[in-house]
Amino acid sequence: MRNIIVTGGLGFIGSNLIELLLKKNYRVINIDKNSYSSNFYNIKEFRNNKNYLFIKCDIADKKLSKIFYKYKPIGVFNLAAETHVDRSIDSPESFIKSNILGVFNILEIFKKFYKSQPKAKLIHISTDEVYGDILKGRTKESYPYNPSSPYAASKAASDHLVSSYVRTYDIPAIITNCSNNFGPKQHPEKLIPKIIYNIISNKKLPIYGKGLNSREWIYVKDHCEALILIFEKGKNGNFYNIGSNKNVINIDICKKLLQIAKTKIKLGKNVKIKFVKDRPGHDVRYALNSNKLITELKWKPRTKFELGLKQTFDWYLNNLKYFSKLNKEDIVNRLGLDK
Ligand code: NAD
Repeated sequence: MRNIIVTGGLGFIGSNLIELLLKKNYRVINIDKNSYSSNFYNIKEFRNNKNYLFIKCDIADKKLSKIFYKYKPIGVFNLAAETHVDRSIDSPESFIKSNILGVFNILEIFKKFYKSQPKAKLIHISTDEVYGDILKGRTKESYPYNPSSPYAASKAASDHLVSSYVRTYDIPAIITNCSNNFGPKQHPEKLIPKIIYNIISNKKLPIYGKGLNSREWIYVKDHCEALILIFEKGKNGNFYNIGSNKNVINIDICKKLLQIAKTKIKLGKNVKIKFVKDRPGHDVRYALNSNKLITELKWKPRTKFELGLKQTFDWYLNNLKYFSKLNKEDIVNRLGLDK
């Protein structure tokens, strides 16, 4: 059996990735500590699949090693991380623990483990935020890291750690840097599900600053396809950017969601855009150059932004139970003002 470990599989991207891995007949062991951003609703389609297993474990816990030796994975996708920039401004410590010490623990285990399983590969999932503000152009993999938030800095540190283990210990590992994801199963602390949640709940639509921050948006299923392709065909020791080449500013996303919503539901009277105080240190723009992945591995994103946005809105509308499984305070409280 082709065993794969996915860490962070109760979260947004991890649960979408597991669904795809199971379709491709891998056997998946999901390791997650079940934090506030986890949701068992995310795994309901496959929780009874005979090729799926959940083990509650922190990636920073030494007992993670036992799971590696018991299940002997041919691939480890590391997605477990603290992921919300605003939370990293208020409480950076958990980001250091999970995103840096957790990755260090995985690396220490993997450096010995892969010798008994020489075909095993570690795919470390990272972000475009490590490159910092990119006011013009698009960043290639060779662009220097310049992270702005504690979140981005913790991810940058983990990428450097993985890269150093490749160079020093020759471990088979690949680092991927992806742009902003959107799609089903994302926690509503993040922009797109937050706006959808507020539209559905007849609340104001908070937009940071003037809404001019620009992000490159990729549909989550396209990201997951790229990850599996990189695992199967990518070169060890390499970095791969994963992006859609499609940048959209926040205010335009909000307007597009309002247009979609109007065709599906009657909008409540509170549903209006409200500009709120900006995030401290808020990067203006991220943009990736993903030509390496496109030319070397013949990947391309399939989902057009507007279609993906409609599918995302529909998913939340048809899965209102998703929200009820989360702590309401984690959805509505404003974080990251460093008060
Ligand atoms: P998420 O917050 O939805 O899910 C993260 C999951 O990791 C949660 O279930 C959480 O419980 C788990 N986790 C956190 N710390 C853990 C630990 N110490 N041990 C075990 N489990 C732990 O996050 P996501 O959006 O799915 O992001 C997944 C990965 O992809 C992260 O590494 C993130 O940096 C990266 N990424 C995300 C995006 C995006 O737009 N969401 C873009 C690029 C890269």
